[in-house]
Amino acid sequence: ATPAAVAVGTGRGAELGVLVKGGAALEAASRVDTVLLDKTGTLTAGEPALTDVVAIARSEHELLSLVASVENESEHPIARAITEGARARGAEIVRAEGFVSVAGAGIEGEVGAARVRVGTSAWLARIGVDTTPLEAHAEELAARGRTPSFVAIDGALAGLVAVADRASDEAKAAVAALRELGIEVAMVTGDRTRTAHAVAAELGIDRVFAETRPEDKASVVAREKANGRVVAMVGDGVNDAPALAGADVGIAIGSGTDIAIAAADVALLQGGIARLPTALRLARSTLRTIR
Ligand code: ADP
Ligand code: MG
Repeated sequence: ATPAAVAVGTGRGAELGVLVKGGAALEAASRVDTVLLDKTGTLTAGEPALTDVVAIARSEHELLSLVASVENESEHPIARAITEGARARGAEIVRAEGFVSVAGAGIEGEVGAARVRVGTSAWLARIGVDTTPLEAHAEELAARGRTPSFVAIDGALAGLVAVADRASDEAKAAVAALRELGIEVAMVTGDRTRTAHAVAAELGIDRVFAETRPEDKASVVAREKANGRVVAMVGDGVNDAPALAGADVGIAIGSGTDIAIAAADVALLQGGIARLPTALRLARSTLRTIR
């Protein structure tokens, strides 16, 4: 690729809100035949909403106050939905101490004397919380595309909160446009399997990797590459960073975390997922002029 052609391609990208970090990224993007898409914050980048609250042993008000006080410290896309929904339901948000975020799993912190954890049932089960009493309820919610986050207080299951986080029409159009470019599309998400399949069905995506931890997302990328695919990974979160770094082209959603943008070769600064087909088309047309 001549420097002049690369300059034209990256310049045109900048006009379109697509930041391309150099000629190698542009060249790899032109050869992509497989796109792996993160779900939360990438395919669903609208306004998620708190829909369900299930409280065990405490009032809904008390549970929501504890949960929202910790979520208030989180940057995750569903954290704002939970915090705002809790506020609307009259929860009292107070300061949480010792906040920790576990990528692809959940968050924890202390509110007063209570140690509060909110996240996937898989994560809570791993640290010894018995989640079985709420699994059936969570599966019902997940079948409707909702994301249930389990709540543990002082190591015991205390309830769940669910967020409706629908795939946008733009995401649907982007998936269709990728197919028209002859690209194979799959979803790779840290979310629950049932939820992932419900959202994927709305988008017409039939390959789904769910309940993946950050290192699992990177393994999916590595496996696709080992099968000879040229892989673009698209994501927004801290949990996507290893997969973004390992892909032939890592593509970050511009509204995502700084860590994802730093790990990526391309950032969709405007328009989010809607700009993805544009970015790949631009790479192809730029490289075609070069060859
Ligand atoms: P995705 O891979 O689709 O972007 P994430 O890996 O960011 O999803 O999150 C995976 C799951 O971890 C979420 O579906 C949610 O259950 C849980 N989780 C992550 N962060 C939080 C949080 N701040 N509050 C509650 N649950 C969370
Ligand atoms: Mg995400």
